[in-house]
Amino acid sequence: MDVVESIGQVRNWVHSARVQGHSIGFVPTMGALHEGHLSLIEHARRNNDAVVVSIFVNPTQFGPHEDLERYPRPKSRDLQLCKQAGAQLVFYPSVDEMYPSGSQTFVEVQGLTASWEGAIRPGHFRGVTTVVTKLFQIVLANRAYFGQKDYQQQAVIKKMVRDLDMPIEIVTCPTIRDADGLAKSSRNAYLSTEERQAGLCLFSALQLGEQAWRNQLPEQQVSLQMQERIAGQPGVSLEYAVVVHPDTLQEILEPQKIVVALVACRVGTTRLIDNAIWSKTE
Ligand code: AMP
Repeated sequence: MDVVESIGQVRNWVHSARVQGHSIGFVPTMGALHEGHLSLIEHARRNNDAVVVSIFVNPTQFGPHEDLERYPRPKSRDLQLCKQAGAQLVFYPSVDEMYPSGSQTFVEVQGLTASWEGAIRPGHFRGVTTVVTKLFQIVLANRAYFGQKDYQQQAVIKKMVRDLDMPIEIVTCPTIRDADGLAKSSRNAYLSTEERQAGLCLFSALQLGEQAWRNQLPEQQVSLQMQERIAGQPGVSLEYAVVVHPDTLQEILEPQKIVVALVACRVGTTRLIDNAIWSKTE
């Protein structure tokens, strides 16, 4: 496995892979890798000749009072995990490599970014779409892999790729969870034992919501039930819990066959998000 820090080195590597006719699967990450990330690498391996992983804690997607400084950066462990998972190239750039001083250009998706994560974290998606565009231009992959865990993020990226005619396929992979249901996240490392236990209310709200939805409760009442479950959990503050349309992410007013439940809360100083796709066509 090769590890490179410069854009030029990635371009050279990708160029020689492509002239050999190799397809490239790309997995962008912020590191502190866990089984969720590794499952994306697995998916990429299955459908491509070569897998490129990027590890970059992207400052432009963090708000001024967010956890940019304390975000974990276990470099040697991450590289080891990439190697074991079968990545052939890891791009590990510095902030200066990605944002040389004087950068003035951003990529922004409107509409889809106005609600939920976008409303709570102003500027977050602008940072995500900008860095992902830059990474796509650098890596020139055939396919890029994202987790359902960040449902709104993958929806925003798919929209950007369609709107800007980017020549890449976006693949969304299922959320990987701990045995008790907590969605794996690099931020789970911030949680104390009690906080981790309290954070399970997201998964339990999704389960309760699904049952209510399958029992024909109207979507808006399902949202209320999930909100009550999360808000009722000691030590947790509710951010949102809603049933939305899978593409528009707008709240559902008429009964639908496929919906997505999006939930988010704060446990102590840590934000947790989760979601589930519910379908009546199965
Ligand atoms: P991050 O390092 O948090 O930026 O995440 C990098 C990619 O891994 C994103 O596409 C995430 O949606 C995905 N991801 C994070 N956690 C999980 C998980 N538990 N299951 C599946 N994918 C995940």
